[in-house]
Amino acid sequence: MDKIENIITDDDFSFPEMERPVSMPLFQNSIFCFDSTDDFKKAIGNEYDSYLYTRGNNPTVRQVEQRIAKAEKGERAKLFASGVAAISAAILSQVQSGDHIICSDSAYSWAKHICSVYLKRFNVSVTFVNTRDIEAVKKAVCKNTKVLYIESPGSLFMSVSDLKALVEICKNNSIFSIIDNTWATPVFQNPLTLGIDAVVHSASKYLGGHSDILGGCVISNNAIIEHIFKTEFLPTGAVPDPFQAWLIQRGMRTLKIRLDYHYKAAMAVCDYLYTKTEVEQVYYPMHPKSPDYSLASSQMSGGCGLLSVKLKTDDEAKIKKAVDSLRFFRIGVSWGGYESLVFPLLAANGDPRLLRLHIGLENTDSLIEDLDKALFLLK
Ligand SMILES: *Cc1c(COP(=O)(O)O)cnc(C)c1O
Repeated sequence: MDKIENIITDDDFSFPEMERPVSMPLFQNSIFCFDSTDDFKKAIGNEYDSYLYTRGNNPTVRQVEQRIAKAEKGERAKLFASGVAAISAAILSQVQSGDHIICSDSAYSWAKHICSVYLKRFNVSVTFVNTRDIEAVKKAVCKNTKVLYIESPGSLFMSVSDLKALVEICKNNSIFSIIDNTWATPVFQNPLTLGIDAVVHSASKYLGGHSDILGGCVISNNAIIEHIFKTEFLPTGAVPDPFQAWLIQRGMRTLKIRLDYHYKAAMAVCDYLYTKTEVEQVYYPMHPKSPDYSLASSQMSGGCGLLSVKLKTDDEAKIKKAVDSLRFFRIGVSWGGYESLVFPLLAANGDPRLLRLHIGLENTDSLIEDLDKALFLLK
């Protein structure tokens, strides 16, 4: 019996001196133990700033949070199991029964679902508005409006809202502002510096950067993150796994250079698409030909690899044939990894003329050649 216990217990385990590892060790443990009852009591009394149980904090997760907070120029960040978990926690933390939310009509589909279908069950109402239209936002404000939820740029038409003007409306009406900054990433846009209250990200996109993890985060000041931690994160348990966090910190090491490349590649693809007669419209706000360019470039310093194109034809058979012929653009949802992707909206019963493209890290000339061959099939 004794022998077995010696094998299976970690009583004499002590963490070795840190040997200055070049990357963060993975703390793949659920619990943390204490030397004394007093230390234990202290941790239980302040779970927000302690390592007690991985459903609250974990050193690997915390390191990623610090990195994301710094990148977004916020005080503190909280990592979640997915982007949608982070979005719902940020919104839910600010509302009670009887309140009202204003939500961008261009927001991510599940963010809209939370604001409408989900929160309706708790007597929270929502107005969807085009947040590029400042007067429409002003008109939507009610006495009980508590949250303005924005996604800018959006992730289908990449539409850009005037963040400074929206912040002013929020400040004048005591409305809490939340922005989904997944498209711009912390590299190209830092909305907290413009007065937005909280930023959310889907880390499943560029922060992870390799289409191999899900994750999400909220970034804000310390008081707001502590409130979200206590009212949403701990009770509902959308906890990131330490290994998932570890992969995000690894992805983030190359965030800047990946984004610089995606930006250059997307611009080159736009330059090409603007020359094609098969194309009705290109949606990429950081291109000088975009109607959003002057606003976009006043609040962002670059763009990611996600753009959309509207074709002139709505011939579904031809469009399917063109999409299926693509070699480098694989058909699928999501974006933000290495690979180029195409999302034909007809697959989701959307406008068949619309294709959303993710311009990946492959050789850009090959991508353009691939698109050129596909567009030729539309003639
Ligand atoms: C993917 C995505 C989300 C949702 O993130 P998940 O990690 O998939 O839950 C939210 N917002 C935007 C803009 C996204 O692209």
